[in-house]
Amino acid sequence: MLNQGIGSWPARRARKTPDRIAVVHDGRTWTYRELHGRVLRLAHALRALGVARGDRIAYLGPNHPAFLETLFAAGTLGAVFVPLNTRLAAPELAYNLADSGTTVLVHAPEQAEAARAAAAEAGVRHRIALVGPDEDGALGYEGLLAGAGSGPLDEAVAPEDPCMIMYTSGTTGRPKGAVLSHANITWNSVNVLVDTDLSGDEVTLVVAPLFHTAGLNMTCLPTLLKGGRVVLLGAFDAERVLELIEDLQVTYMFGVPTMYDAMAARPRWETTDLSSLRTLNCGGAPVPARTIAAYLDRGLAFSQGYGMTEASPGVLYLDREQTSAKASSAGVPHFFTDTRVVLPDGRAAEPGERGEILVHGPNVMTGYWRRPEDTEAAFTDGHWLRTGDIARLDEDGYAYIVDRVKDMFVSGGENVYPAEVEDALLTHPAVAECAVIGVPDPVWGEVGRAVVVLRPDAHADEEDILGHLQGRLAKYKIPKSLVVTEALPRTASGKIIKPAVRDTYATGPTDRPHP
Ligand code: ATP
Ligand code: MG
Repeated sequence: MLNQGIGSWPARRARKTPDRIAVVHDGRTWTYRELHGRVLRLAHALRALGVARGDRIAYLGPNHPAFLETLFAAGTLGAVFVPLNTRLAAPELAYNLADSGTTVLVHAPEQAEAARAAAAEAGVRHRIALVGPDEDGALGYEGLLAGAGSGPLDEAVAPEDPCMIMYTSGTTGRPKGAVLSHANITWNSVNVLVDTDLSGDEVTLVVAPLFHTAGLNMTCLPTLLKGGRVVLLGAFDAERVLELIEDLQVTYMFGVPTMYDAMAARPRWETTDLSSLRTLNCGGAPVPARTIAAYLDRGLAFSQGYGMTEASPGVLYLDREQTSAKASSAGVPHFFTDTRVVLPDGRAAEPGERGEILVHGPNVMTGYWRRPEDTEAAFTDGHWLRTGDIARLDEDGYAYIVDRVKDMFVSGGENVYPAEVEDALLTHPAVAECAVIGVPDPVWGEVGRAVVVLRPDAHADEEDILGHLQGRLAKYKIPKSLVVTEALPRTASGKIIKPAVRDTYATGPTDRPHP
């Protein structure tokens, strides 16, 4: 095959394991042969619409087989896939469509209205509706496939060619489009396969949204590369996840801590048979100790990871065997990836010293889409990607993610890392969620403020919760004020949007004297 990109994976799998089940969704299954057949037809249909090498094709919708078909069909033609976040409002979608220069948008019925408005504003040439055609000119997905050719297509695609433009979560600002090549995605999958021991009989439950790098690249693609099956769930639902694990004998899943927490909180948790699970991977944020404990009680240990969209995304990996020995570490670099922790003056940090973690490897993006200045600022010393995260290493080289550079604040000359304070707050039984921010203070420059969501039916006041931190944290780290709220602003991947928390809660007096 001339196609060396991921667009060729269905064809290669159809050649090797045609009858294995590739995708399960909503009670239906597709073998690799069937997946390959549908991908080919979609690629023919897209080509008939004028899609050529390098053109951008976007997908907007919840987890569904059409997401993967569109990704692979784009790759078949050497076109670039743009997954879009379903939680974005029409103007934000229009921004991403215009920014990426998308010409064809495939979308689910749930997003029809937003897709219509955004596509019109951004000048997208063709809209393809999963349930269509519609009266506003969208083509129908199934109709296109039925009418398309099915002959072989073998476009020359090189590993270095762009495969997707993936937008970052937008936790610290406007999402940026990371350009990931076929090589980037392939090497990330190889890293996952080497470090996670995924096998051809894997049953992978995909509950994280596919439009985020973790859902697609840490679960789906490595499984499909190996010939396992992926079970796609449209939206996360703790009850349904527990049901599916038992019914479909799920062996592998990836989630963020809030998902695993929600599962352990369901009454069904106690009675669900979880014995098929081999690997529970958790990433995106540190796993709270109480979550680790709840799963260990059921004989399940997490493997944990640290990564970012720009690294396709896997950077660090902590094997489940190390979960207890190296509690709260994000592990060591993935097999083919390397990291360095550097101090502000560029010196390498000694074990225990905190500095910014840098990444180098075949999974690291070539740059941001049409943002030369951001790309330039993202790299240092040639090819080292700046993560914007602070880490420290222990004597064995295990990394501990401390916090984001942008979230750290300075109180009385001491650096405060909110993540550490949040971990301590979460050990209070009444605290369900929390965010700590720095607020201006005339004496100390900045002091901490805790914004917390209480557990249902829990009663605790400021004094009680902040008092809980006495003796657990140094005095300068303990927030000087506390606000109770109903919910914290989160991104679609479940991360707390700190800039939004700061915008809402950073004003107002600090009402406690500093010790
Ligand atoms: P944006 O770059 O648009 O502000 P984002 O950085 O949240 O958004 P992602 O690429 O989805 O976008 O997330 C990567 C970030 O998530 C990392 O830089 C890090 O801050 C955080 N992260 C990922 N894994 C972990 C982990 N295991 N522990 C702590 N933080 C993590
Ligand atoms: Mg980021």
